[in-house]
Amino acid sequence: MFIADFHIHSKYSRATSKEMDIEHLVRWAKLKGIDLLGTGDWTHHLWLEELKNKLEPLNNGLFIYQGVRFILTTEVNNIYFKYGRNRRIHNLIFAPSFRVVDEVNSVLSSYGNLAADGRPTLGLGSAELARIVFDICPDCFLVPAHAWTPWFGLFGSQTGFDKIEECFDKETPNIYALETGLSSDPAMNWRWSELDRFALISNSDAHSPNRLGREANVFDCKMDYYEIIDALKKKDNRRFLSTIEFFPQEGKYHFDGHRNCNICFSPRNISL
Ligand SMILES: [Zn+2]
Ligand SMILES: [Zn+2]
Repeated sequence: MFIADFHIHSKYSRATSKEMDIEHLVRWAKLKGIDLLGTGDWTHHLWLEELKNKLEPLNNGLFIYQGVRFILTTEVNNIYFKYGRNRRIHNLIFAPSFRVVDEVNSVLSSYGNLAADGRPTLGLGSAELARIVFDICPDCFLVPAHAWTPWFGLFGSQTGFDKIEECFDKETPNIYALETGLSSDPAMNWRWSELDRFALISNSDAHSPNRLGREANVFDCKMDYYEIIDALKKKDNRRFLSTIEFFPQEGKYHFDGHRNCNICFSPRNISL
């Protein structure tokens, strides 16, 4: 059994700790019992250089540094106009090798300045992003990040969509997992049957090392890129066992409402 936290940020992302470097990540991963850590931010050239210099590739799509395994993950901010509204969606991209990362970066660099932020803004739709990534390598994996946050989530009330098909068009069948985010947990997501086919993953989205693993995923399979992705694609509950959850009611977006009107909606009081 092992614990994986796929979504974190490096010191090259905005509003992150200077200690988000490999050495501190490894020290805190060991303290927290995290076996496999997403690298975050592989779209940023300086962070990518550091990853290439320090991580030793294993021959299974993963990497290792001082006993802690790493998986190549990054988050991008897709900003675009679709169906009459501005959309802002954060998506996570998983890749099995630096060669694939280099190819994806070279295409994405024509849609935004990858050096501006560890989580770059791209003038590119989510469906187009998916097509680009899967054309380069079908073993890549794309997951809408914190799917419910109002401003940057796939289902966000402000800049998201009401249906996953509206966001991903023909690429929808290639999306197999959703990140529930800190303010929601799997039980809340199970209330909507349209999400039944998706694996629900949870990650820390850490901006400082002491936040690593505040949400994470528990697997019982070989620690191998292809095996992990296969378990998620098949939503196999013998290999992808569960998630470790933050109290969703402590999340910033758990309750909806409007401060000026003194309205606060609890999920418990909304009947479906
Ligand atoms: Zn995000
Ligand atoms: Zn993030």
